[in-house]
Amino acid sequence: MVTGPVEDPRFVGYRRKLIEDIRSHGVDDLEVLELFDRVPRHLFLPEGVLPRAYEDAPIPIGFGQTASQPSLQAYYLTLLKPTRQEKVLEIGTGSGYLTALLALMADRVYSVERVRELSHRARKSLDSLALRNVALLVGDGTIGWRKYAPFDVMVVSASSPSVPSTLVDQLADGGRMLIPVGSRDSQDLVMVRRTGFAVTEEVVKGECTFVPLLGSFAWRGEAGG
Ligand code: SAH
Repeated sequence: MVTGPVEDPRFVGYRRKLIEDIRSHGVDDLEVLELFDRVPRHLFLPEGVLPRAYEDAPIPIGFGQTASQPSLQAYYLTLLKPTRQEKVLEIGTGSGYLTALLALMADRVYSVERVRELSHRARKSLDSLALRNVALLVGDGTIGWRKYAPFDVMVVSASSPSVPSTLVDQLADGGRMLIPVGSRDSQDLVMVRRTGFAVTEEVVKGECTFVPLLGSFAWRGEAGG
């Protein structure tokens, strides 16, 4: 575990079980698996769902949103592998759990969330682990975060009808982005890579279901949040 509050020893056992569940989904990268031991997921979830904190499942976090399934997040990290020198842009902070995992791998993580309350809650969780290399922004992540661009790695945790060109524009040379693309009901996980002016897209996993990316360059005309 990273530095943080003293924790209930039961959670250590639950985390070991979660890591076994992630392995059973085919993730065998030890550096990635170890991160799931270091970040206590229960610190990122609301009180009412704590008994489910170490299930390998999407968990509701309020505001109609969910924290993504850990094995899927582990797959993201295995494919993207940000290094200690790299800058990451995350769209959809949500609970902040993936933000924390990314912060342990990368130089700096910039994370945008449209629901203010979720961003504030994530900030408290990240602070409780003394993770200081994370900048959070409340706003529409489909326009990226131009001030800190370009980014070596981009992680989009909500689904889009297409790859927003605004995000591709903020991808560094040699950069890579994972984004679920498709209909509201089902999406393909797409890896976008930029090399110089060349941009390639490759489907790395089919039949995913993410919450929608709501914004100027994704699903539009939504109320509430
Ligand atoms: N990785 C997060 C996933 C949360 S679900 C976790 O595991 O907790 C996806 C999040 O994307 C939601 O919190 C939702 O509010 C947010 N989101 C949707 N559209 C967005 C946009 N345009 N900009 C920023 N965040 C957005």
